[in-house]
Formats: sequence, C-alpha cells, structure tokens
Amino acid sequence: MSEAHNPTAGEDRTINILQLYPREMNIYGDWGNVLVLKQRLKWHGYNANVLEYNVGDEFPADVDLLVGGGGQDSGQVVIQDDLQAIAPTLRAMAEDDLPMLAICGLYQLFGNFFKTHTGTVIPGIGLLDLETHGGTERLIGNVLSVSEEFGEIHGYENHSGQTFLGSGVRPLAEVRKGEGNNSKDNWEGARYRNVVASYLHGSLLPKNPAIADFLLQQAVIRKFGSFEPRPSSAKDLAELAKLSELARQHASQRP
Ligand code: GLN
Repeated sequence: MSEAHNPTAGEDRTINILQLYPREMNIYGDWGNVLVLKQRLKWHGYNANVLEYNVGDEFPADVDLLVGGGGQDSGQVVIQDDLQAIAPTLRAMAEDDLPMLAICGLYQLFGNFFKTHTGTVIPGIGLLDLETHGGTERLIGNVLSVSEEFGEIHGYENHSGQTFLGSGVRPLAEVRKGEGNNSKDNWEGARYRNVVASYLHGSLLPKNPAIADFLLQQAVIRKFGSFEPRPSSAKDLAELAKLSELARQHASQRP
C-alpha cells in the first residue's frame, strides 16, 4: 500500500477513479456508478478525477478506485486479450485492498472463466474465485437482495451467464426477489477484500448509496490514512442527506 498520511489543509484531496473499458463494458446505465462516486466524493469534500481505460491504452499509474460495467458477450470477446494483459496489475491492486466495483460482464470476467451459451470460453482473470456458465434462459428483472454489510440492495439484472461462487469469495447479498448469480442458489454478487461485484444494473450506486460510500471511503482511507469528510457547504450536506433519504424511501417502495 502507498504510504498513508493524514490530509492537511490545502492538500490535494483527489481520488482517481478508473473506469475499465467504458466503450464495450457500460450498459444499462452503468456509467451512473462513476457519476455517483464523483458527486458523493464532492459532497464529502474530496475531488474526483475520472480516468478511462480502453483496449490498447496505457494503464494509468495512479489509480485509487476502479469501476467496471456490464457488456454483451460480444463486448467481452473484444476486451478479453487486453484484459488478460492487465490481469496481473488488477490482481495486485485487489490484493493491495484497492476498492473495486465490477458489474455483470466484468464481474463474470473477474472470475475464472465465462463459458457462454454458445460454448465459447472467455478466460477470466481469477481475481475472484468464481465461474460462470451461459444458459439458454436469460435472467431478467428487478432484484431485491439483503446484505449484512449494506442492508437492502436493489437493482436490475439481465444476463445469460450463471455464476457460481468458490470458497475464496463470499456472496454480496441474499436474494429475496429475482435471481441474482444464478437460478439455483440464492446468492447475489460477490465480496472479496475491498472488491464489490454484482449483477445489478440500474445503475447500482444511485439506488444503493451505502455501497458507494463504502467504496469511496476505502479509497480515501487507503490513500490518505483516514476519512475526514469536509462538506464544501451546508447546501451540499443537505443535498447529500436528502438524496440518501430519497434512495432509502424509493428502495423500500420497490418490490
Ligand atoms: N454477456 C453477459 C451475460 O449475458 C453479461 C451481460 C451483462 O453485462 N448485462 O451473461
């Protein structure tokens, strides 16, 4: 881990957020996850610098938080070689407790492999101990799940891949409505170190700000040694409280 230090007045309080493959892996509003992290960092008195990494790019040196979205099977095929090339970097970052959010298509590829419903095997990067098998049936619809860490988690799923967790990860949440990882067990998503992985779009973080705050707090603590929110104004603070309450109310109204 980079040497921790406490932020002092005038110090740069910038968190570098890297979005992985926004061209191919960014469906059903997944880009909203980055916007939420950026805005909530601002409300907490930190700056966000959003970086993008696409196939063939040079991997940025200074990353504090990593976000990856979902994509079609065809998009996963496009990125697969490049993803293998950066796999050692991503695995090292996860082992170094860098916070990461991986949704659907990238969630699958953070695992050991995705065997699509046509039989194509797309290798994963083994960052998460899990595997995915494509089915003929798509799992589509709203999901309600419950996690000890984050409370109720709401979102929208649309995938053919069915993911099964190995012993090296724990589930993110237990499904109460919808399917989640697969149509057999009741788990949704995966947790490992500071990695949060989920099938849920919607996007996930606007509906579930507790997960956003977990990720950004881990990023800040890892970089600066402690999380010291410093809302830029009373108005920002009020806005933050209002949106958190709205998200909570909307979540409790959904099935
Ligand atoms: N292509 C994958 C599947 O259908 C992922 C889909 C997604 O990211 N929504 O299983």
